[in-house]
Amino acid sequence: MALAFIDLKAQQARIRDRLDAAIGKVLDHGAYVMGPEVGQFEKSLAAFGQAELALSCANGTDAVVLPLMTWGLGPGDAVFCPSFTFAATAEVVPWTGATPVFVDILPDTYNMDPAHLEAAIAGVLKEGRLKPRAVIAVDLFGQPADYPKLADICRRHGLKLLADSAQGFGCTLDGKHPLHWADAASTSFFPAKPLGCYGDGGAVLTNTPSDWGHMDSLRVHGKGEDKYDNVLIGMNSRLDTLQAAILIEKLAIFAEEIVLRNAVADRYAEGLADVVTTPTVIAGGVSVWAQYTIETDNRDGLAAHLKDKGVPTAAYYPKPLHMQTAYRDFPVGAGGLPVSEAKGKRVLSLPMHPYLSSADQDVVIDAVRGFSG
Ligand SMILES: *Cc1c(COP(=O)(O)O)cnc(C)c1O
Repeated sequence: MALAFIDLKAQQARIRDRLDAAIGKVLDHGAYVMGPEVGQFEKSLAAFGQAELALSCANGTDAVVLPLMTWGLGPGDAVFCPSFTFAATAEVVPWTGATPVFVDILPDTYNMDPAHLEAAIAGVLKEGRLKPRAVIAVDLFGQPADYPKLADICRRHGLKLLADSAQGFGCTLDGKHPLHWADAASTSFFPAKPLGCYGDGGAVLTNTPSDWGHMDSLRVHGKGEDKYDNVLIGMNSRLDTLQAAILIEKLAIFAEEIVLRNAVADRYAEGLADVVTTPTVIAGGVSVWAQYTIETDNRDGLAAHLKDKGVPTAAYYPKPLHMQTAYRDFPVGAGGLPVSEAKGKRVLSLPMHPYLSSADQDVVIDAVRGFSG
C-alpha cells in the first residue's frame, strides 16, 4: 500500500464499530440539525480544552470570525495576524470591515514573533489611521504560540487575543491550553486536522458566557429570545449532528493519539536531526503535530526525490499571505516580513499521523537521508 501523508483510514478501522453505532443513532432519532449530540460534544470539547464553554459551528473559518464579530470589530480597526498561515486566519478580518496587519514569525517555531508584534502595533499607532483592536495568534503546525508574551502585549495595549488553534487544538504550554491566555480559541474539524470529522466543522472555546451567547445567536441567523425577532445580523453556521456524533468518538481517543503523534515526531527527530533542520517546539510546549515540518536548502529537490521514492510531502506555506494577490494591499509590520518570506522556500512537511508504523517511517527517514542534493 502506498504511504499516506495523513492516514485517516487507520483511525477509522480502529473505531469503525463505534462510529457506525453513533451514526446509526442519529439516523434513528433524526435530529440532524442541533440534535442532542451537538451539546454533548460541546461539553466534552470544553472539558478537553480546559474551557468553561465550547460553541460548535460549520467550519474552522467561521470559528475565527465568530469571536471577531462578537467583539464588534469593524472598519478602522486593525487586527494583527501572521502571514505565514492558512488563508482563513486573515481572510475573515476584512469580512468584518477591519484590516489585517501582517506580523512576522519566529524562525524556529514559525509562530508569531512577539517583538515584531510590538513593532507592528507601534507602527499602526504612529500612523494613526487604524485603531489596534485584536491579535490572532496561530498555533502553526500544531504547537502553541508564545502566549505568555503575546497576552502580555495584548493586555498592555487593550487588545483582544484570539488563538487560531485549527492546527493546534489539544496543544499545551506548561500544561495549559491556549485559552488560558487568549480571550477565545478557535479550531477546525476539517478531516486532515489533528481532531477532524468527516466533512466540515469547527468550534470556539471561551470562558465568557456572554460571548458564548452572542456567538450562539450569530450561528443561527442572529436569533433572539423570540423566534420571530432576530436581534443580530448573523449567519448559518452549525455543526451537523452527524459530525458531532462522529467527533464524540474521535475525541475519546484524541489524548492517546496526541501521545502517538509525539512518539512519531520524536522518532523523526532521532532519524533526521543530523541531515535536515528538524522542528523546535517552544520550551514547555506540547505539539499535536498537525504537520511535521523540516527545513532544507534544496527543498524542491528533496520533495522531488521523496516523490520518486513514493513518499508524499507538502510545502506549507510556499507563499505567505502578504505576497498573495488578494492580500497584497494590506499593511505589514515595520521592516516587512523577512522570516515569513524566507521560510516559504525552505519548509517541507513529511507524512505525519498517529498510526504511522515504524516500518513506514523508516522508509521516509531513509529516503530523506538518501538525498544528496
Ligand atoms: C484549517 C485552518 C483554518 C480553517 O479551517 P476550515 O475548517 O478549513 O474552515 C483556519 N486557520 C488555520 C490556521 C487553519 O489551518
